[in-house]
Amino acid sequence: MTFTMTKQHTIGELISLSAGYLESKGCNSARLDAELLLGHVLGVDRLDLYLNYDKPLNSREVDEYRKYIGRRGQRIPVAYLTGSREFYSLPVQVDENVLIPRPETEFVVDKTLEFLEAGQLANILELGTGSGAIALALACQDPLFRITAVDISPAALKVAEANAKRLGVDGQVRFVQSDLFEKVTGLYSVICSNPPYIKREELELLPPEVGVEPALALDGGPDGLEFYRRILGQAASFLEQPGFVVLEIGWDQGSQVRSIGEEAGFTWLETVKDYAGQDRVVVFRWA
Ligand code: GLN
Repeated sequence: MTFTMTKQHTIGELISLSAGYLESKGCNSARLDAELLLGHVLGVDRLDLYLNYDKPLNSREVDEYRKYIGRRGQRIPVAYLTGSREFYSLPVQVDENVLIPRPETEFVVDKTLEFLEAGQLANILELGTGSGAIALALACQDPLFRITAVDISPAALKVAEANAKRLGVDGQVRFVQSDLFEKVTGLYSVICSNPPYIKREELELLPPEVGVEPALALDGGPDGLEFYRRILGQAASFLEQPGFVVLEIGWDQGSQVRSIGEEAGFTWLETVKDYAGQDRVVVFRWA
């Protein structure tokens, strides 16, 4: 299928045309993507698109939209094209240096919050913060929550720091460039993480969109469990008593991660399922 847009097309026609093109390129949310990208180009939300369905676009707008659709057709994720993704109702800016926040990762925030009391000072450690999504969502819940957010990637930390400033919580979040606990000091009531957990040999089988995301944020080593061994092997020395560990996992890693934690002396509390009914978050208690 060829992809042509003429100057006379209305918003509705452009969306249909673009959705058809993206579908032919294998995008599985073609229509939504076409809408999100047009909304981005025009600086309006999706509802405004519907309200202006019969409005024609000017040629500058059409040209710009065509570029975005072309890049999406190359399977670049929408969030990298718009530069933003919503997480926990917050606009989080992203680029190719960070994993795009996923809705299921909101369970990590929910579970972490269960161990914190509103209006009470709390120190929280997030390992592998990437865009900062988890740390920022926690910081926005209560001005008394203090978060130390670490990442091994300086480029990711730049993105996270900019997000913290934009959301006005930079006073609550301390960013540290560190390979997991390497440069971490202090004690925390909760340690949380969405570590890389894809088995190395499965990395190349992922959809093209995920292939654009940083391998550093996805590669969990030969069996996908490397980071759970490292985190659970060291977490105890950084936890208050009682202290808690909240970890996102892959759908098939629940029992293995539970064993890794129990062998390290943690008490397993629960394995939480995501919206798709798959194991997604494991929760442990220390002492
Ligand atoms: N949820 C991501 C995916 O399935 C993986 C994220 C991770 O490794 N932490 O693509």
